[in-house]
Amino acid sequence: MTFFVFPPPAPTVLPVSGGGLFPVRRVFCVGQNYAEHAREMGGDPNRDPPFFFTKPADAVTCAPRVAFPPMTERLDYEGELVVALGTGGSSIAVDKAQEYIFGYTVGCDLTRRDLQAVAKKAGRPWDMGKGFDFSAAVGVVHPATEIGHPTEGTIRLAVNGVEKQKSDLSQMTWSVAEIIAHLSTYVTVARGDLIFTGTPSGVGPLARGDTVEVSVTGVTSHLFTLV
Ligand code: MN
Repeated sequence: MTFFVFPPPAPTVLPVSGGGLFPVRRVFCVGQNYAEHAREMGGDPNRDPPFFFTKPADAVTCAPRVAFPPMTERLDYEGELVVALGTGGSSIAVDKAQEYIFGYTVGCDLTRRDLQAVAKKAGRPWDMGKGFDFSAAVGVVHPATEIGHPTEGTIRLAVNGVEKQKSDLSQMTWSVAEIIAHLSTYVTVARGDLIFTGTPSGVGPLARGDTVEVSVTGVTSHLFTLV
């Protein structure tokens, strides 16, 4: 008889609007998917293929209070539309990609920008800048059966009630369908996967005690405080 030598960790779950829990499998993130943000990060805002990085599934938190992370003097917010997959596959066609989506939410891709900058300069991995504990603050998942598949709508992030980022989903360089198609050529995606679809311009720093609100018109909003 085989057995676990200790109990396996409980899955990370997100509440679903209308009931139920969405079990998180993997977390993929797209870099520089809005031209103005690509420029502010020193990138080239063209249609080079999208690039991806990841966060651990247990970096996801829906909690209203998020622990301010250690080892940083520059924690940045990045407000994003987040896609929640309900079906898996590989080499998914752009015109079929919507069928793989369970729903959508919003999230903050919390970034230790100082560590990311050092990693970029040294040609090292971004993991410790991007994939730390509680680095993916996300809201309630809204099924596509409830809200449809948004391709436009205001994306907004405010800190302590002051607007810091504002754009529109229509300004994404790569559409959600194109992102899924590209990502699924690199890895087999599966139900439970979350995809952060990139942030608009206006990224900036956070301090302990700040309250962050991310919203996308027609999707949802999410609010949390760094403690
Ligand atoms: Mn991001």
